[in-house]
Amino acid sequence: MKKIQPPTCSPSELFDDCVLGISDPTVQARLIAHKGLIEDANANYAASSATQTWCHLPRARHANPDQFIVGNLTKGDLVSLYTEGMVGSSGAARKKYDELKLLAHDECPYCGGCGEMVDEEGIGTIDHFLPKARFPIFSILPINLVPSCATCNGGMGSKFPTSPELQPLHPYFDAPHFFEEKWTTVTVSEDEPILVTFDVAAPATWSEKDRLRILEHFKCCKLRGRYRTKVASDISSLVEQRKTVHRNLTPEEFREVLKTVADNGALPINGWKRSLYHGLAESLWFCTNNFAA
Ligand SMILES: [Zn+2]
Repeated sequence: MKKIQPPTCSPSELFDDCVLGISDPTVQARLIAHKGLIEDANANYAASSATQTWCHLPRARHANPDQFIVGNLTKGDLVSLYTEGMVGSSGAARKKYDELKLLAHDECPYCGGCGEMVDEEGIGTIDHFLPKARFPIFSILPINLVPSCATCNGGMGSKFPTSPELQPLHPYFDAPHFFEEKWTTVTVSEDEPILVTFDVAAPATWSEKDRLRILEHFKCCKLRGRYRTKVASDISSLVEQRKTVHRNLTPEEFREVLKTVADNGALPINGWKRSLYHGLAESLWFCTNNFAA
């Protein structure tokens, strides 16, 4: 849930670069003959982005790589543009692929930096917001390619909902309030060991559709559980500080220490860290506890 700038690379230039990486001359010729589709795809995607209705774009059948998508161009041809022409290429398309990953600035926009952005090759992943298995026409459309952590990428998989209110948040095109207003909540157990539970609560002014969308986003990125796994070291470090360097602070002063992180505008407002510190600052039990043995 971090908004990032959409890629600026030209869809038709990227198409040309990817076509160059296709080894089968017959497939390559079919793709070249249908180059016009990329501009149409870009326009359709942009129109859906304006209304957040990507789910209504036409989808291909499950599997069926031989299904014709446009003329004699198959789903398999379009998917190979990505797998062979882009990811598998050593040319300009691969360079653009690697540049796309940099748009996230090492922080996955779906989970707000919860997931690791560096895999064993040190390069992270690219998620197809609309999965290429169902929307092959957008397999190399730059604005459908979102840098993400492997967990978010895998979590959303090849499924995409058919209802607008169940769509995950689009890091390039969704409305600013999803990324600027607070909608995560935290409950602190007020007992030791301290347990923290993350949840979702939309501001009262939001529409029912937006409320359902953040619920779905939280669910499909598995954030309830993933956030919880992040907090242990921060909590034990804070408890240790409360017993030592912060032992003379009043509850109100300690709350201010917590609020400096809760209000840190450099971190995603609904990411695990700001949510955790906000929840701890709100907990009278946590702020008044000196954790003496
Ligand atoms: Zn992620």
